[in-house]
Amino acid sequence: MKVSLSCVLPLEDVAAPASLILFQGGDLLVGAAGYVWSLDIAAKLQPRMRTAVLIDASAFIPCYAVALDADDDIAWLEGELRQPRQILMASSFADFLPIGKAMQLLHWVKSHRFCGYCSAEMQGHLAERALCCSRCDLRVYPRISPCVIVLITRGDEILLARHVGRVGSWFSCLAGFMEVGETPEETIRREVREETAIEVTNIRYVSSQSWPFPSQLMLGFFADYAGGEIRIDGNEIAEAGWFLPKDLPKTPGPGISVAGELIELFLKSRRKRST
Ligand SMILES: [Zn+2]
Repeated sequence: MKVSLSCVLPLEDVAAPASLILFQGGDLLVGAAGYVWSLDIAAKLQPRMRTAVLIDASAFIPCYAVALDADDDIAWLEGELRQPRQILMASSFADFLPIGKAMQLLHWVKSHRFCGYCSAEMQGHLAERALCCSRCDLRVYPRISPCVIVLITRGDEILLARHVGRVGSWFSCLAGFMEVGETPEETIRREVREETAIEVTNIRYVSSQSWPFPSQLMLGFFADYAGGEIRIDGNEIAEAGWFLPKDLPKTPGPGISVAGELIELFLKSRRKRST
């Protein structure tokens, strides 16, 4: 994406008019008027070096993401720090999108402060959304990690699993990161085999979703059961089973994740069949 000025710059160099999305300790600062703040507040923050990252260059009023320091006094803003996951659970993913983009861009900048080749400091590129090494010219773009997520069907049943360490007792589809050199279909076969010892066939793509925890691209698929008995690995999966539509456990909703969308599409297809 081409922009006229650097997308990563000191907060003090951001020109008006502009708005800000503020984070502290990974939490989003939400005020009475919402999570978007006026640039005016920047002048009232304690004077120190902060980086602003442009979220959307095509927006009428540019909006920047800013991570405040843990000891920044923000009580005067009369906002509330809220965990992004809680906000996502309470809204649709479309509403959450600018917050998710802000989180991913801040994560990118924070994790690339120095060059991986020569350890010199990285700076915002003047023409692209990129960080550039001040010494050796290495250019680093925001990194996205592709993941697959798959709903496996066996007749009227679907395979759902509860992940180790997941808060609450939610069941969801199987998912995993793509490894170097893999196609999404190969990742699905490997992950499903590793996590549940199940074999799948007839893999077909459904939809995708950006998932900013911290920077995944979730690729959603359906697949059919081809063989095997469920045997969980115990490392990533705490519990897995086949579920009929009438006996589903607690699952994510369709508005907040591609997993929820896959489950909803399956349920719709079964409802259509029974009418
Ligand atoms: Zn370098």
